[in-house]
Amino acid sequence: MSATQPTSDAKWPPDKVISLLTRYPLVVRLYEQVREFFGDRLSLEGRIDRKHSGFIVTPSNNPPGFHSASIRLVTTSGNIPAAIAHELLHGKLVMDGFCVLGDLLPHSLEVIGPRKNCLNAWNAIQHEIFFDEFLSLGFDRNEFIQLTSALSNPEEETRELVRLRNEGVPMRLLRPIWWGNFFRNLISSRHVADASLVAEGYTQLGPSVFPEFAEDCSRIMRWISCGDFRSPERAARALNELLPILGLPGVRTYRVHRLGGELKSSWD
Ligand SMILES: [Zn+2]
Repeated sequence: MSATQPTSDAKWPPDKVISLLTRYPLVVRLYEQVREFFGDRLSLEGRIDRKHSGFIVTPSNNPPGFHSASIRLVTTSGNIPAAIAHELLHGKLVMDGFCVLGDLLPHSLEVIGPRKNCLNAWNAIQHEIFFDEFLSLGFDRNEFIQLTSALSNPEEETRELVRLRNEGVPMRLLRPIWWGNFFRNLISSRHVADASLVAEGYTQLGPSVFPEFAEDCSRIMRWISCGDFRSPERAARALNELLPILGLPGVRTYRVHRLGGELKSSWD
C-alpha cells in the first residue's frame, strides 16, 4: 500500500486527489471542471465500509443547483484512478444538464417497485452515455466497473422468482427486480465482456417466466438504439418511457441547466 492511497473513511483534500491522478492529466482536468461546477459543495471521500463507489447529489431549488455532491470511493478496490474517473463522469453528466432522480411519481405508486431499482436503471444508462469518454481518458474497458458489484446470478434469481410466484407473490412485485437486474447486466454487457454471459443467462431464462419476454426485449433494444437518453433535454422523458417496460414506476426528475447564460433548475 503506497502512502498516497488512504484507506480510512475520510474526506480527501483536492491536492491528495490530484496526487493520485498524476498519470492521468485528462482526469485531473475533469476533476477541476466538476469542482468548478459544484464548488465547495463537492466532497470526495474514501470508504472502507461499502461495496460500491458512488456519486450522490442533493438538489437545491433556491438557488438552483445542489446542496451537496459527494463522491464515495471504495478504497479496497485496486484501481483508484479509474474509480475516481468513473464517478467524476457521473458528476459531469449532472453538470451537462442531465437529470438526477427525485421520488417515485405519485400515480405510479400502485406499481410497487423500489426507488433503488429505478436508480440502478438510470445508473446503467449513464454508463452507456459516458463509456466512450471513460476510454478516452486513458483507461481500458476492463477498468470501467468493479465486476463483482455489477454481476448477478440469473439462474439463482429466476429460481427464487419462481419459488415466490408459486407461494402467491404477485408478478407485479417480482417483475421489477428481475427485469431491473437483467437491464443492468444487459447494459454492462455492452461495455465489459464478462457481463455478456450473465446477460445471456437472463435472455435464456426469461421466456420461461415471462410469456411476453421477446416482445419486451425488443422494446428495450429499440429504446437503446433510439438513443434519446443521450440528450440532456430528452433523457428524463426517455427514462420514464423505459421504466414501465421493466415493470418499474416512473420517477420525478430534477435538472440544472443554463438558459440565456443563467443557471435554472426544474423538476419534471
Ligand atoms: Zn457508475
